[in-house]
Amino acid sequence: DDDLRQAAKLIREVPDFPEPGVLFRDISPMLADGAALNAVVAALGRGLEFDVVAGVEARGFLLGAAVAQAFGTGVIGLRKPGKLPEVADRVDYDLEYGSATLELPADTLQAGQRVLVVDDVLATGGTLDAACRLVLRAGAGVAAAAVVLELTALGGRARLDEQDLRPLLSV
Ligand code: 5GP
Repeated sequence: DDDLRQAAKLIREVPDFPEPGVLFRDISPMLADGAALNAVVAALGRGLEFDVVAGVEARGFLLGAAVAQAFGTGVIGLRKPGKLPEVADRVDYDLEYGSATLELPADTLQAGQRVLVVDDVLATGGTLDAACRLVLRAGAGVAAAAVVLELTALGGRARLDEQDLRPLLSV
């Protein structure tokens, strides 16, 4: 819709970040705009049935908490390693260069819950796939994996073939 089109204009393109040759999409100006944030948050949860939101550190925290509040659910932060006092589970995954880890906090997700997984950008898909695996390993279900922006050229969608991927925008 028109609000989303306006929101999309607030995504900045930053060449050569975080390394030469990468065109980084910065959603900070979009988050800072009230109308844009409202439109994005409403669209991320629209038409979906979920019991709780899981947001991926760090921009997925901002979006995930807002979606949870808008739809009346709780929110779980899936964290990078070393931040949580008690970890229920962790998943290691490969990045283009190196590896990364996501952790699920103890006493948050319950088996059988329907989880809306939220992040800002789908690139190679490793991060969102790891988030979904944490959910599934807890005996919960992925209602959908919702992102603001899918970078189609990086093929992340293929890594999530079991999940209902909901990008608001694709480039
Ligand atoms: P992936 O694991 O899909 O390769 O990378 C996705 C993760 O890296 C997400 O958590 C996302 O926040 C971050 N990321 C990768 N590329 C971009 C980008 O161009 N813009 C933003 N905002 N985040 C990115």
